[in-house]
Amino acid sequence: MEPSHTTSAARPLLCALMLVVVCAGAPFAFPRPGTVAVAQSAVAQSAVAQSAVAQSAVVRVPILVYHAVDDSGITWSVSPAQLDAQCRWLVDQGYTAISVRRFWRAARGLAELPPKPIILTNDDGGPSALTFARILDRHGLSGVYFVNTVSPLTPRQIRALARWGEVEAHTVSHVALSGLDFPHQVEEIARNAVYLEGITGQPVRFLAWPYGDANESATQAAVESGIVAAFGLGGGPANPAALDPYYVSRITIYRADDLTTFAAKVMGP
Ligand SMILES: [Zn+2]
Repeated sequence: MEPSHTTSAARPLLCALMLVVVCAGAPFAFPRPGTVAVAQSAVAQSAVAQSAVAQSAVVRVPILVYHAVDDSGITWSVSPAQLDAQCRWLVDQGYTAISVRRFWRAARGLAELPPKPIILTNDDGGPSALTFARILDRHGLSGVYFVNTVSPLTPRQIRALARWGEVEAHTVSHVALSGLDFPHQVEEIARNAVYLEGITGQPVRFLAWPYGDANESATQAAVESGIVAAFGLGGGPANPAALDPYYVSRITIYRADDLTTFAAKVMGP
C-alpha cells in the first residue's frame, strides 16, 4: 500500500510548523510521516505479500539516470537518437519500465515485479525532460522525473510528465544537502515535495539526492519530510530484497555509452 492521505495532509502542516520553528530558532518537534508509513506497511503484510517478497528477492532492478537529451555533446547528456536506440534495445530484450512506486511496493513485499524490470529516471526537470518522455512513450516505456522547484518547466509541463510517468522530489534549488543544517535540509526537501504535489495532485514520497550527496542529517530530513525512499548515484542494479532505502543505487548513462556499454550497465556484473 502507498502511504495514506493522512501523511499527505500532514505535510502542509509540517511546512507551516517548519517555517515557524526556523524563524524562532527552536528545536524541532515535527510529526513523523515516514514513521507512520513504516507502521502502516507492517500492518499490511500478508501471506500473499510474503510470496511476493520471495519472488522479488531474485530480481535485480537497474535504475538508470539520465539528464539532458540533446545534441550538445556534453558528458552527461545523450542524443535523442542514442536514447531512441537504447529504448529499442530495452524493448527488444523484454524489459518493462516500472515506476518507483511499484518498485517500493515490491521491496516491501506488496507487489510483484515483471520478469525484467527497469526504472528510467530523468533528473532536474530540464527542458529536454519532455523530449525524454516523448521518446520513451514511442516505445511504450514510462519514466520517473525528479524535478527541482527551480526547474524551468511550467506547471503544465510538469503535469504532462506526471501523465507520462511519475514526478518525484529533487529539492527546491538542487543544492548539495550535506552542506546545509537540518532546518534548511528539511526546507529544501519538504517545500519541493509540496510544490510538486500541488501541481500534479499526486503524493511525492521519493527523492533523488542532488549530486548523489547525502549525510545522516539529510536522511533524517527526508524522513521528516515524508520521503520513504531516496535514490543516489553509483552502484549496480538494485536488489529490492536488500535495500538501503535512503540510498538506493542508480546507474548514470553518459554520452560516451554505446549500446554495448549500455547493455553491460543494464545487465550488471
Ligand atoms: Zn540533479
